[in-house]
Amino acid sequence: MSESADRRTRSLDTEVQFLKGVGPKLAPLFNKAGLKVVRDVLFHFPRRYEDRTKLPPIDSLRPGMQATVRGRLAGVDRRPIRGGRVIITAYLTDGSGSIQLTWFNQPWVAKRLESAEEIIAYGTVKQSGLLLEMPSPEFETVGDDEDAEAFARIWPVYPLTEGLPQKSMRRAARAAVEGYAGLVEEILPASLRREYGLRDVAWCLRQMHLPESESARREARQRLVFEEFLLLQLALQQRRAEVHTEPGIAFDLDAAGAGESGLPAGNLFAVSPDSQPRGSLWDEVNRMLPFELTGAQKRVIGEIWSDMRSPHPMNRLVQGDVGSGKTAVAACAMLAAVRCGYQAALMAPTEILAEQHFTVLRRLFDPLGVEVALLVGKQTPTQRKKALDHTATGIAKIAVGTHALIQSDVKFPRLGLVVIDEQHRFGVEQRVDLRRKGLGNPDVLVMTATPIPRTLTMAIYGDLDQSILDELPPGRRPVKTHAKLPSQRDQVYAGVRKLIAEGRQAYFVCPMVAESESTQAQAAQDLHYRLSNDVFPDLRVGLLHGQLKAKEKEEVMARFRDHELDILVATTVIEVGVDVPNASVMVIEDANRFGLSQLHQLRGRVGRGAHQSYCILIADVTSEDARARIDAMVETSDGFKIAEVDLRLRGPGELTGTRQSGVLSFQVADLVQDAKLLEEARQAAQRIIADDLGLTKPEHAGLREASRRFRPELAAVVVS
Ligand code: ADP
Ligand code: MG
Repeated sequence: MSESADRRTRSLDTEVQFLKGVGPKLAPLFNKAGLKVVRDVLFHFPRRYEDRTKLPPIDSLRPGMQATVRGRLAGVDRRPIRGGRVIITAYLTDGSGSIQLTWFNQPWVAKRLESAEEIIAYGTVKQSGLLLEMPSPEFETVGDDEDAEAFARIWPVYPLTEGLPQKSMRRAARAAVEGYAGLVEEILPASLRREYGLRDVAWCLRQMHLPESESARREARQRLVFEEFLLLQLALQQRRAEVHTEPGIAFDLDAAGAGESGLPAGNLFAVSPDSQPRGSLWDEVNRMLPFELTGAQKRVIGEIWSDMRSPHPMNRLVQGDVGSGKTAVAACAMLAAVRCGYQAALMAPTEILAEQHFTVLRRLFDPLGVEVALLVGKQTPTQRKKALDHTATGIAKIAVGTHALIQSDVKFPRLGLVVIDEQHRFGVEQRVDLRRKGLGNPDVLVMTATPIPRTLTMAIYGDLDQSILDELPPGRRPVKTHAKLPSQRDQVYAGVRKLIAEGRQAYFVCPMVAESESTQAQAAQDLHYRLSNDVFPDLRVGLLHGQLKAKEKEEVMARFRDHELDILVATTVIEVGVDVPNASVMVIEDANRFGLSQLHQLRGRVGRGAHQSYCILIADVTSEDARARIDAMVETSDGFKIAEVDLRLRGPGELTGTRQSGVLSFQVADLVQDAKLLEEARQAAQRIIADDLGLTKPEHAGLREASRRFRPELAAVVVS
């Protein structure tokens, strides 16, 4: 049908049914796969390729290899097994040897094999007795129409929805490339393509679907990845530039006292790590905090204050390793807001963390006569009403809470600063809610619990300004981490006992059993029972889990802090905020079940005092992944390094909690594999934006249009 289609009417919006080899019968199957028009087919890329120019002979296969083999079928066997199911076995020979192919309970396979003489199979090779076996291979029959030359090339293998044959998909893609690839608009300016050595888009699309060679395919992919990253970076950096021009609050820190030092205003915030901060706001900070700030803290506070003075909204991300002292930094930002006559809010991802922040902030601000209110879900009506009243009337200058803070009955007449303590858990949606609440255009500070890999920072937070706390408070000794097998428990217990005899305290983190809080609480109770009755009957063992009432939690924490307990058995609720310097050992049960950043966060609870601290990971490591996590923990205590490993192991979606939301879903790009291209694209975007912020130059028209695709995603990830 497409043969007869008028050339002039050809467009990328042509329905798939008009593609050669599709037709009205197959079209619904394409539609079901989301392929409605030709453009969709062109941008539906193979999930892998098969190099059929050099298929290995069967006798060269070894167990563990992933391979494609071609051969003749020598017998197909269909054997019923229990439960009405069936195993299909086929033998494939190619003159060099033979391999057994098996399919478990896929009866339709037998029918397809019946009519085939020669097939191509792809799968993982296993040893099965004396034979080589390929369980559940993908396969295609080799037709008579395929001559040797057509066969010996690199074949695309597409992701398919059920019912859509690979062959039809290939035919459609070929037709789309041959008839339409030339219509795809080139959005990368020629000068940019020259500079980065990128091929034109039509060539790239052809190579993605019908690769001439492996190197051509790679070149094509690189260009498409670069383009995707460039569009995202353009959107992020435009957003960043826009925020920098929006009207916001210019906090008058000079009037608040920061300028009274007599230094010229321009120098006020240029605090070098070794110079003593000057000015009365700095003086007040020094009076407020019970310790001397680290150089990194001073620098970051300087960056934040400088943003606050600007008449545009602050949009800043503070990253720092566990224990680098982010709370103090947040407190200094809030103090500045309060001293300028504004309110500040601090949002935490969990109730226990909100309460912890509340306690810490009250300790700092009470002596200054600044009232702090707490707003969490589990308050009594009276408590909540009081907190709401004080916030609404401005008696409370600072409010701390969970997402309860953004509910509609919470009123902040003078909200000037929002601090979000993100902990990787604060849902994308909640951040959007905060924005929609219409709080005006307050300054926003986002703090992450643990460092984020650089590629992710660029991809998700590219529109935020960055501050990094790359220094721990003095006197910290790195925690020694050891991996132990469950059979070595007694040895671990003996070690813990020795430390407790020396006057230290210990955490035991119970195994992760389920997402449900109540089963998790049960696991903690079980471990508490075993430790307090069987292992340490003579010691004082406390229990902390998420199902306890707020008051009970506080009580247990207070007893542990006051050294009325030797051991605290806990769930991951202690991951956040808990701070007891005398606790010098943490035993994590079933450590293989925890994520890497979670282990790192947990470990951050020890090593806070002057004593050498230990983290013992008890794990029966069965999977590669678990092995890699445990190894990373033993090898390094650097959160930035751990974050990189975590990204490699888990992928960006899991790491950011955006997997479900479709945010960060690239068509071709891969944040782990393509980190270098992301960096290049970022720099390219920076230069383009510096020269043409609105992308209004004619050569940027395509980029302007295409980068809009990433705009809705930004709304979903970005706080502004
Ligand atoms: P995190 O960055 O993990 O949130 P916190 O803010 O909880 O770290 O700080 C960790 C601990 O270090 C707290 O006990 C805090 O009081 C202490 N601390 C923070 N900054 C300093 C500093 N400059 N000197 C000494 N101790 C500090
Ligand atoms: Mg913290």
